[in-house]
Amino acid sequence: MNKQTEEVKPLAPESKIQPSSRRDFLKTSTMAGIAAATFGAAPRVVGAVSAPTALYKKAGPIAISSRNGQGTVLKAIEMIQSGADALDAVVAGVNLVEEDPEDTSVGYGGLPNANGVVQLDSAVMHGPTCRAGSVACIEGIKYPSKVAKLVLERTDHVNLMGKGAQEFAAMHGFPIENLLTEKARKEWVRWKENMSTMDEYLPPHKPGDKGIGALSEPIHRHWGTIHCSAIDLAGNISCVTTTSGLAFKIPGRVGDSPIIGAGLYCDNEVGAAGSTGRGEANLENLASFLIVERMRAGDSPEQACLVACQRIADHTKLARLQDSMGRPDFNVQFYALNMKGEVGGAEIRGGNGTFAVATPEGGRLVKLAYLYKNNG
Ligand code: ASP
Repeated sequence: MNKQTEEVKPLAPESKIQPSSRRDFLKTSTMAGIAAATFGAAPRVVGAVSAPTALYKKAGPIAISSRNGQGTVLKAIEMIQSGADALDAVVAGVNLVEEDPEDTSVGYGGLPNANGVVQLDSAVMHGPTCRAGSVACIEGIKYPSKVAKLVLERTDHVNLMGKGAQEFAAMHGFPIENLLTEKARKEWVRWKENMSTMDEYLPPHKPGDKGIGALSEPIHRHWGTIHCSAIDLAGNISCVTTTSGLAFKIPGRVGDSPIIGAGLYCDNEVGAAGSTGRGEANLENLASFLIVERMRAGDSPEQACLVACQRIADHTKLARLQDSMGRPDFNVQFYALNMKGEVGGAEIRGGNGTFAVATPEGGRLVKLAYLYKNNG
């Protein structure tokens, strides 16, 4: 069935999607019928996202990720096709981004904390064994997702953090490296020098200048992360999320990415979900768990992601986090994959957002649904 003609299944009664949001959602669902773009070695337009039953008799190999994971999903599918477990495949996929110095939101090259130290968060979850592993605030380790996987495989714990996580990685032979690239260091210095006129750090200036350090141009304290979920040849699902977290965060801050149920969750009977964006909002709503539970109750991946967006919007009570209409002034994105191979994603504020999907036929970008239109 083509998405453009598909009827959107009503949400279960406890859904709190507001009528206006619901209108946006219906509109977006229609838009999502148009696969935005294809990428990868053997791209093929596979048509409407909401026609997965036409694509798969049962879920074949499939991988989804945040938009920055176009190479990630292709790598994951390549590994899955050669027989890899989905967990190995998604971790190998995000390793490409963790080691990329140009991605300043993940791994090596990530923007540092307020002290100029790169602190990374990552978690993995393995559907068939219902096991999870994670590291938080780990320093000097380029591949935190690999360490999270080792926590799952080689300890009886789920979370390791800080120095202990680093020592555990070193014990397993990971080199301790400087993860702060010149590009990231310069961004951090620019942030530090332009935060205030009330401190002693001065950005480049001329002798006649006054008010030095007042923000002359906005500094984007961006969020950024990669999430990837995949189903392998055995029909098992796994997922990973990895990030350097909020740029210039307070040292020690732990985001949603390494928290099971927040930054990611999966269940081999149902599917997987993960997130990027403002981690604090997700932490307070455990949205990945919520999405998986909504899918268990019958929501499509996209509907479940919209429910999570709405839950965060409903729980955003503080004026400092709201726009003039009382809506969240920040963004969170969710990505979900169910065991039928259906995919969907949504963000709180959007219109142009996409996420990456790959199957053995190639990769494509798919539109994210949204709760509120950006600038609308
Ligand atoms: N969710 C991540 C965090 O809050 C950052 C991001 O996805 O942009 O640490």
